[in-house]
Amino acid sequence: MVSDESLSLEELMALIRTFVSERDWDHFQRPASLAMSASIEMGELLERFQWLTHSEIADLLHDEQYRTSIADEIADIMVYLIRLADTTGIDLTRAILRKMKKNEQKYPVSEWKGRIPDKVRDSQ
Ligand SMILES: [Mg+2]
Repeated sequence: MVSDESLSLEELMALIRTFVSERDWDHFQRPASLAMSASIEMGELLERFQWLTHSEIADLLHDEQYRTSIADEIADIMVYLIRLADTTGIDLTRAILRKMKKNEQKYPVSEWKGRIPDKVRDSQ
């Protein structure tokens, strides 16, 4: 396993691709299965927060074991999403940059600084 913490997205994608290929799992990794798996892992992340207040979560994030469990679930989600981008030929860096540009246009700083959309605020 690679220990370099400065891997690029492309290098992470290759690392995941190798992991999958070595196990001959390629044929299991169809887009719908990968999307479902990412969603399932998101559920596992949400489970770590379930029934806790914002304050309790903030306190727990100082606990190394809890923090590691959160990191593990974020990594699980990201691995599936990176793999989904890889198997569908989507340039993830380009997609994120394009989406952030759309977000900048949708939420200009001059209008949205310090504010969030009402539907988000109302749910908090
Ligand atoms: Mg998990």
